[in-house]
Amino acid sequence: MSRNEGRATTANGIFPDSMSQGGLPAYLQNIARVVVDRSMIDTSIARRVRAKLPHVPWVVLEPGQGLGIARQNEQCLYLKEYKGAFLRFCPGTRFYRCCGYRIIHIGENCPLRCSYCILQAYFQDPVLKVWANQDVLWDELDAAFGRDRSRRFRVGTGEYTDSLVLEPLTGYSRDLIRFLADYENVCLELKSKVVDLSWMDVAKRSDRVLPAWSLNAPEIARTEEVGESATLEQRLQAARTCVENGFRVCLHFDPIIYFDGWQKGYAETVNMIFDYVSPDDIAYMSLGSFRCMPELSEVIERDFPESTFIYNEFIAGMDGKQRLLRSLRVEQFKHLVALLRAHGMGKQLYFCMESDAVWQEVFGYTVKDLGGLSPHLMNRAFARRG
Ligand code: SF4
Repeated sequence: MSRNEGRATTANGIFPDSMSQGGLPAYLQNIARVVVDRSMIDTSIARRVRAKLPHVPWVVLEPGQGLGIARQNEQCLYLKEYKGAFLRFCPGTRFYRCCGYRIIHIGENCPLRCSYCILQAYFQDPVLKVWANQDVLWDELDAAFGRDRSRRFRVGTGEYTDSLVLEPLTGYSRDLIRFLADYENVCLELKSKVVDLSWMDVAKRSDRVLPAWSLNAPEIARTEEVGESATLEQRLQAARTCVENGFRVCLHFDPIIYFDGWQKGYAETVNMIFDYVSPDDIAYMSLGSFRCMPELSEVIERDFPESTFIYNEFIAGMDGKQRLLRSLRVEQFKHLVALLRAHGMGKQLYFCMESDAVWQEVFGYTVKDLGGLSPHLMNRAFARRG
């Protein structure tokens, strides 16, 4: 049986997985324990989680008490009073062309199990963490976005977690979209590998929310995205549903992986995209080659012994991460860009973390010719359809 068999779509196509237990997707049904900071017990996030997981034991953490009680082999959800900065810069580097994205930090970790997931190297434990002190978040966002309403922001929540994977429990994206309705200078990207469109009815402005899905070659989706992520077809069907409801979407080929038959695999996915959406429906699309810190390859080697892509020919990049040899990256990029251009894709394509030399070699221009990557993507995010 393939790792993806058994996925099902509900009649309305909104949720991808079996929802037999309390209406929750399968990847949330094995949460064995909820830990909550005492100060967070009466927050709306905690109340919602309690209503959705009434059968799951709760542990209340007193001030100063650590999370050591979370057991290694059980899925634990921690509703935390977060003390750090909610609004952050995307961790780009000065060596590569960065896209100027701002992260709204809503929590950490993800219950899906993609072998290549960089979060495995970012965080020391797999506990699902949700920042429950939303009142502080709203204050911080208001201070940033409300100060000068002529200043635009392109923001997203899908950097340290999947934007929507915990949505059935927390309703976090619904809250965020409601809050941001008062800030027309902010465009929110929701990046995910699941299908949850439950936020859609609160989005007053469909031009200020960009639902986004990452895509890969079918073989990589089947063998490396081994959790309960939606199939490629389900992601694209969801993208079409969004388009039919007036939204534009973002799609991301990241990480692009080198494997036997990658040419055919990526061509299959590119062709599939345009069965569902047209280039005008896509605000932007990133192309990113697999990047890996040493800690990540150790985790992949240990936890995903069938994954062989970490043994490809890598070199250390200027950011200290291992990446595929430039000649191989460029070969893959050129292949994908040619396929995408043949379908009418143009300036909405961009690279995540590549140099001007790679931009020039593959696209025939650099970010300078676009007026800078950050302003270019900002313009695309805020552009109106047509
Ligand atoms: S869906 Fe994204 S965040 Fe979740 S495991 Fe996969 S790569 Fe990581």
